[in-house]
Amino acid sequence: MDKFDYLVVGAGLFGSTFAYEAAQRGYRVKVIDKRAHIGGNIYTERIGGIDVHRYGAHIFHTQNDVIWQYMNQFTEFNHFINAPIANYRGNLYNLPFNMNTFYQLWGITSPAEAQAKIAEQRAELAGKKPQNLEEQAIALVGTDIYQRLIKSYTKKQWGKEPKDLPAFIIKRLPVRFTFDNNYFSDRYQGIPVAGYTAIVEKMLSSDRIVVETNQDFFDNKATYLREYPKIIYSGMIDNYFDYQLGVLEYRSLEFETTYLKNVANYQGNAVVNFTDEETPYTRIIEHKHFNFGQQPDTIITKEYSKEWRQGDEAYYPVNDQKNTHLYKKYVKLAKGEPNVIFGGRLGTYQYLNMDQVVANALALVKREFN
Ligand code: FAD
Repeated sequence: MDKFDYLVVGAGLFGSTFAYEAAQRGYRVKVIDKRAHIGGNIYTERIGGIDVHRYGAHIFHTQNDVIWQYMNQFTEFNHFINAPIANYRGNLYNLPFNMNTFYQLWGITSPAEAQAKIAEQRAELAGKKPQNLEEQAIALVGTDIYQRLIKSYTKKQWGKEPKDLPAFIIKRLPVRFTFDNNYFSDRYQGIPVAGYTAIVEKMLSSDRIVVETNQDFFDNKATYLREYPKIIYSGMIDNYFDYQLGVLEYRSLEFETTYLKNVANYQGNAVVNFTDEETPYTRIIEHKHFNFGQQPDTIITKEYSKEWRQGDEAYYPVNDQKNTHLYKKYVKLAKGEPNVIFGGRLGTYQYLNMDQVVANALALVKREFN
């Protein structure tokens, strides 16, 4: 099999969905990834029976029937519901902000009391249009929630004081006046019982697909462009053009994973956010709880947010005016590459949930093959 119809750069969910669909239609596909493994950021590694989310906690959730059914052909999902806890200086609060949180904050028990409390605290802004993230948050949820659950967490996430961040970063903050700790309001939610990597393994298992890991596209870019009729590129768009117009900015993360022997249950929940300033990490993930694990040991990951520098893993695009403007210039350049299709979160410089990535890949499949 020496002739391929497509080269897919990136064995993440975007590239793998496309490769699967192309192979189903009889096309031959080479998939390369510069990492040592497939799966991109949804990669999970099974250690001692626990699926460790190597690139941060991933919970699949969607409103879209078609995408939910599509994903179910590759995996069985469990009934995990994301109900994170916030730890502020040792005090615990339920997230997202709901009646449980309001009870924990103020001891109040009725929705009317909670609404009144929030309205009273929002009044501090006296109807002024929020000029920054701090004012925006107070306008949405009042001062107590802002001070304890948003302020320092946001500062750790973005490396800046909320009053120096633009208001647009938080357009909405979910506030519920019911006792409901389910973080997402989507109809479908769950974690693949066999781990996320198994989904991608299935997608790439066709004999029309050849996968090569530890292969950086830029080590052989000219050859790839010459030899492959079409390239689906899910790496960074500015990198593709050798950063000739400038560098798109990201936020990065660092993960510190620890195997705790003879600790069956470390924190009692999959996700605990640390919303105080003193704790240097933003959250601790205890992986076994995603799958209701009963192992005698546990594995936890502390997640630190950090400034991104070229060469670091790029996690969150900084979609401010400056970067959006630069990205648009790269999109114009990309139009001059008729045989290269840019996709996925890095290729389109946007934060995308997994269901959106799959929907985008399937939309591309439609355009490409219909
Ligand atoms: P990626 O997974 O990044 O895949 C791109 C691949 O391209 C990578 O494997 C990379 O190594 C490879 N590549 C890049 N450049 C090159 C090159 N030059 N040569 C070869 N290969 C290259 N979504 C949810 O729905 N729910 C969640 O709970 C959730 N949690 C998240 C938590 C974190 C911390 C982050 C960062 C994201 C989260 N997401 C979540 C989003 C999810 O990770 C993405 O939707 C999905 O992984 C994107 O898939 P992708 O294929 O576009 O990108």
